[in-house]
Amino acid sequence: MLFRFPQRGGGRDLGGVLRGRGRGGAGMGALKIRLAIGAVIALVVVVSYFMNTSVNPVTGQKQRVGGVTESQEIQMGLASISQMAGEFGGEARDPRKRALVDQVGRRLLSVIDDIYPRGEIPWEFSFTLLDDDTTVNAFALPGGPTFITEALFDRLQTEGQLAGVMGHEIGHVIHRHGMERMAKGKLLQGLVGAATVAGGDMSAGQIVAVVGNTKMMQYGREDELECDEEGIKLMVKAGYDPRSMIGVMEILHEASGGAPKAPEWQSSHPHPENRAAKIEATIAREYPNGLPEGLVP
Ligand SMILES: [Zn+2]
Repeated sequence: MLFRFPQRGGGRDLGGVLRGRGRGGAGMGALKIRLAIGAVIALVVVVSYFMNTSVNPVTGQKQRVGGVTESQEIQMGLASISQMAGEFGGEARDPRKRALVDQVGRRLLSVIDDIYPRGEIPWEFSFTLLDDDTTVNAFALPGGPTFITEALFDRLQTEGQLAGVMGHEIGHVIHRHGMERMAKGKLLQGLVGAATVAGGDMSAGQIVAVVGNTKMMQYGREDELECDEEGIKLMVKAGYDPRSMIGVMEILHEASGGAPKAPEWQSSHPHPENRAAKIEATIAREYPNGLPEGLVP
């Protein structure tokens, strides 16, 4: 734990301070001190979160990723590949399907430079089809490892739809969402610690945790919509019709009826219908003169 504050009757020094304050009552004084210490801890936690910014090497955006470097991020992703793949049955067997996943992923990667001409892309992308035919899911690990389950793959009807899923996941990697979430998690942990000290019991800390969780969900949703937008841009540059993404949303909507669990694409994501509307709006905004001819659906 962050800080253990002596409770009533615990700390001699504290008792001295309280008695020095006269008739205010030991309880009130202890509360004030607890609040002050809690506030200092909260301040330190918040300041270190907000001071610690990094420039994203691809997008050029300033981000709060807790000072984690790209190479550390890549190591984290690599270290969790086999465990994550294992949770979804490992790599799928069909070599043709696997090749298509890889090929579409590479085609999308090849146009990142056109959207963000900042030079070298540090992350190490890989594209894996997972041997899980019940969980409709796709996800990316920090630093580049990207996955789609066979259950989702088999529901897709076109290459463009596959590109929509992969483009979205590549977006999570480019925008370093995993690292942002981790940094927010640390911020939240620190604030829970501060609130626990200030409140003298867990309930205050629990309140912060609940509030913080809601906040994190909201950030998550923004991340998702940002990735849909990123996916659209990658798709068009790579020659895929971004309207295919709307088909993906319909497939997800249908799948959510029966699928037992889908951590990335259903529970953590905004409702597919809302996303479809946003996707249409983004296409209209980004391509006001219409989409290029000859895109792959
Ligand atoms: Zn996502």
